[in-house]
Amino acid sequence: MVEIKTPEQIAKMREAGLVVAAIHRACAEAAVPGATTKDLDEVAAKVLADHGAKPNFLGYGGFPGNICTSVNDIVVHGIPDRGTVLKAGDLLSIDAGAIVDGWHGDAALTVFVGEGHSAELRELSRVTEESMWAGIAAVRKGNRLVDVSKAIEGYIRRQPLPASGKYGIVEDYGGHGIGSQMHMDPHLLNYVDRRRGRGPKLVPGMCLAIEPMVSLGTPKTHVLSDDWTVKTNDGTWSSHWEHSVALTEEGPLVLTAPDGGKAKLAELGVETAPDPLA
Ligand code: MG
Repeated sequence: MVEIKTPEQIAKMREAGLVVAAIHRACAEAAVPGATTKDLDEVAAKVLADHGAKPNFLGYGGFPGNICTSVNDIVVHGIPDRGTVLKAGDLLSIDAGAIVDGWHGDAALTVFVGEGHSAELRELSRVTEESMWAGIAAVRKGNRLVDVSKAIEGYIRRQPLPASGKYGIVEDYGGHGIGSQMHMDPHLLNYVDRRRGRGPKLVPGMCLAIEPMVSLGTPKTHVLSDDWTVKTNDGTWSSHWEHSVALTEEGPLVLTAPDGGKAKLAELGVETAPDPLA
């Protein structure tokens, strides 16, 4: 069962999405060499409180942070802590969420800490982000869920290979429906698996979190003994980008992008729905 939202509910999700965008802005600014990932968690907690929003990550299955901070070969679900001191050259994914009046937002971005990143790492993040936008551009009436997966994978596969030899599209985690809960049906693969069929038709009122995770090597991952931290099996570094997107009668609206996705989707020839809060 896929939850279908009313325009009023999508407006609430837009509010939550803008809180997530504010967390990202503040955390990205605070992600400087010498800061700990716990410092970033405190920044996120303050932004949530300032907006009167609730955290959705904190306490989720016992998760101890307001955000996930995943450094270098950690793909996702890194736990903020005082022991992880950021240094120049790190590749950090910040995954953040917020609840406003019971409606959820969820998004992630990859940040370059300090300087000194190789062209390969910069390209990894660019390819991951652009694959997310390709997926978002496929969120339209008449498409099926698999068309979003196909757009994400297709974008990545069309890019020149990195010096490491390949991009690994992480298989164990993917996007998801979002709304009255953070993780809802349907699960969204970042690649096409023919055994899974084409998935549901995309209809107005559906909201999806689209979140490719790409490594410079293997698509295979494992979970550390803290039961959360997900690392690549071969130790290659990875990037993670995510936005929550609503499909409306008037097209997609990127709930967690400050401009609703307007500028980026225009480049891809897609018109976004008007912002219900504008
Ligand atoms: Mg998510």
